[in-house]
Amino acid sequence: MSKEENLQCSFCGRKKPETDLLIAGIDAHICDKCIEQAYNIIEEETNEAITNSLTKDLILKKPKEIKNFLDEYIIGQDQTKKTMAVAVYNHYKRLLQTKDDDEVEIEKSNIILVGETGTGKTLMASTIAKMLDVPFSIVDATVLTQAGYVGEDIESILSRLLQAADYDVKQAERGIVFIDEIDKIARKGDNPSITRDVSGEGVQQGLLKLLEGTVVNVPPKGGRKHPDQKYIQVNTKNILFIAGGAFSGIERVISKRLNRQAVGFGASLSDEKVDEKNLLQYIIPEDLKSFGLIPEIIGRLPVLSYMNPLDAETLRAILTEPKNSIIKQYTKLFSIDDINFSISEDALQYIVNKAIEYKLGARGLRSLCEAILTDAMFELPSSDEKEFTVTKEYAEEKINKIKTL
Ligand code: ADP
Repeated sequence: MSKEENLQCSFCGRKKPETDLLIAGIDAHICDKCIEQAYNIIEEETNEAITNSLTKDLILKKPKEIKNFLDEYIIGQDQTKKTMAVAVYNHYKRLLQTKDDDEVEIEKSNIILVGETGTGKTLMASTIAKMLDVPFSIVDATVLTQAGYVGEDIESILSRLLQAADYDVKQAERGIVFIDEIDKIARKGDNPSITRDVSGEGVQQGLLKLLEGTVVNVPPKGGRKHPDQKYIQVNTKNILFIAGGAFSGIERVISKRLNRQAVGFGASLSDEKVDEKNLLQYIIPEDLKSFGLIPEIIGRLPVLSYMNPLDAETLRAILTEPKNSIIKQYTKLFSIDDINFSISEDALQYIVNKAIEYKLGARGLRSLCEAILTDAMFELPSSDEKEFTVTKEYAEEKINKIKTL
């Protein structure tokens, strides 16, 4: 045997002819297989270190502190804030759990929020993400369809999250996804004859896997899966899903159930007065089932909460109280041009009343303010004016002008 053939890997002992490559060091050799193995060990260790450090910055806030944070940005909705605070706390506790702790495995606490549009469901989810400083994305369930139909595949839900995480898979894997309009994928009625259920049960089945936790091949650019596209693998095990929907008409389902309970045995609500104006507060998972969500989906969204309708008082508070309230934002915008902006109380009341009149909820506040202030934001930066006060009359004039256009 030649001297060359006698050389061997100092780690595994393989002779040179048994390796694809043998690299020489000062007093030792290493083969391609051992390099590969060593590389994997390094990779695993570093990943673990990254994950550990990521989760370490997460244990952070107790439920009460989470609620306090939410209070800074969101008016009212106390019950939901509490529920969310606990769910989020438990979710990230679960992330911190080391595998060998004990037998008990904490399950994911995905959340479902039911409430009219504009009541702050998205705001609730985005504020949580802001607090945790984790990637956050919003997807609309209505664009999702079963593979093979026009629309987006379920996997595209994660494309947005990846984008939000700058394609850092590890970050994305502990992010938060808000699925809006989840009610729109409910099975349409109890009609079994609808066989081509493009956006109903098929989508719910697809969604189920995602909520449960699975490794998904994600098309990085979103949209439809394409054979030529390279996929990124994302594990959804630790992603927190928050679903939201208006579930319009669900009050009827709740009311029917409450009536049934009230006459049934062991009626729990018969003594208490049911608040007919806000039936959502009595919602239970069974109502979602009656609405058309499949039980498995409901099971994977175990934390259920509701949003209260916004009354005049809440709308008034939303205008000025949150940390980045609409009025605070305009004040800042004007101050950049050294303009001292203020708005009178009756002007604020006027905006609130208009938002109610137009049935726009909190969403309307912003568009009304924009309509009232656009002229000023156009004119004032080029003028010498340093004071700008919006009175009720001024607001009225601007809104009426738009109406007559
Ligand atoms: P939803 O997701 O329920 O349709 P959003 O979260 O998109 O509603 O809310 C619409 C707008 O109203 C957002 O600009 C949000 O900031 C504001 N808003 C709604 N509810 C509240 C609230 N309770 N406190 C502060 N702002 C709110």
